[in-house]
Amino acid sequence: MIRSFRLQVTAWYVAFFSILLITFSLIVYGFLARSLEARLDETLITEARTAAALFQSEMQEMNGAFPAAAHEAVAEMRTRGVVIAIFSEGRLLEATEPAEAEVLRRHVPGAARTGDTDQVLTIPRPGSPGLRVAIQPIRIGDRGFLVASASSLDSVSVQLEGVRRVLYIALPLALLIAGVGGFLLADRSLRPLFRMTEQAHEISARNLSQRLQVGRPAEELSALAASFNELLSRLDASFGTMRRFIADASHELRTPVAVIRGEADVALSQERAPEAYKESLAVIQDEAKRLTRLVDDLLNLARADAGHARLRREEFYLDDVVSECCRAVQSLAAAKGIQVEWKAVEDLSYSGDEDLLRRLVFNLLDNAIRYTPGSGKITVLLSREEGQTRLTVSDTGVGIAPAAAPHIFERFYRGDDARSRQSGGFGLGLAIVKWIAEAHNGSVGFTSDPGAGSTFEVVLPVTSPAPAPRPVA
Ligand code: ADP
Repeated sequence: MIRSFRLQVTAWYVAFFSILLITFSLIVYGFLARSLEARLDETLITEARTAAALFQSEMQEMNGAFPAAAHEAVAEMRTRGVVIAIFSEGRLLEATEPAEAEVLRRHVPGAARTGDTDQVLTIPRPGSPGLRVAIQPIRIGDRGFLVASASSLDSVSVQLEGVRRVLYIALPLALLIAGVGGFLLADRSLRPLFRMTEQAHEISARNLSQRLQVGRPAEELSALAASFNELLSRLDASFGTMRRFIADASHELRTPVAVIRGEADVALSQERAPEAYKESLAVIQDEAKRLTRLVDDLLNLARADAGHARLRREEFYLDDVVSECCRAVQSLAAAKGIQVEWKAVEDLSYSGDEDLLRRLVFNLLDNAIRYTPGSGKITVLLSREEGQTRLTVSDTGVGIAPAAAPHIFERFYRGDDARSRQSGGFGLGLAIVKWIAEAHNGSVGFTSDPGAGSTFEVVLPVTSPAPAPRPVA
């Protein structure tokens, strides 16, 4: 099995050319052999007829003395380059060449057909291509004669042998030229591909921004280069996202860990009252909780990225989940002087992952509380219309600045307001909401009036049968 594509193309080229050349040579050779034989036959027939005519006129001159007439006729034909023999009633009367005469005597009378038409046949001779004979039967008075003209097939076979010899040299030579030509052709047409391979070899995770430069290749190859470059762009983008994700994650992890260490260091630096230790432990507990939340979020997103996050689909009442979440955050909201109101269609059954959807509602509520100042109001609505389940969470909070709007679903994105606040989240809440909505074949969007509040809307199809897609953000 040839592995080099160049050699494969060359081999195909040579194979194709061989078949073409051999077929062509066989046809030409066959045609030549037949036409040489036909020319010989034509000469022999002409000579036999001439000898017959000569014999007939000699017979008239000699008043029917056929042995003498045959002798004269044969003598006159001696210089014609073919063997002439005349038979009478199966007996050889006269022949130009005694050597061939014997062969003719043995074969011609037996082979000759009765009648007066010409006949051409080959008499085999051991060690030679044989003797070609034209027979002309004639009748003079009541006596039948056969006039035969013969020639060895040697001359034909010598000519054909010459042609064969030329072909034996020319054919391999032509194939060699075809092979070299095919190789050069394949090499030339594959050169852009080699260049592309070399360049592709040099591209690694470190220089993914590099692209293939292939000059002006053929249409097919430029399509290949374009697809490869597109693939590189996608890889580059996802590598970038991954790098950012890792950098952001490490950055986020560093703060709570630093707080825990600092608090422990301070507490342990000298003897303290039990209350002081309690205070320190409470701070450490808070930060540990934050850390747990962050690690959970990261793990969820990483699993979703790796495609391992499977939806645990089950039938449940979505209105119950919404009510439970609203009730759960009520005390937190009340502590900030925020009022939470909810209105849900009753007995709204839904088939999906209950835990994830609970998480989605909770994240939206958590944000609404976080970004709404005291004496604000949060309204949650759950409805079903035209085959869609719609959940809206509206608040009368700070709203979202137009500059932040395109980014809030990105991982680790936090608005300026949230960034400066110690109680702020990690910027993963909405990325998770988006992933959960999309995993249920739904979508999430928002409208906001900066300074007056925001409304987040999640739309889910009533049944969402597809498996969890991989998140993009
Ligand atoms: P965070 O942990 O910072 O809340 P999220 O992904 O949940 O992260 O939200 C990203 C950003 O979107 C927040 O930092 C905030 O600027 C903005 N945001 C989210 N929800 C609201 C809201 N209800 N009102 C105003 N801004 C919001």
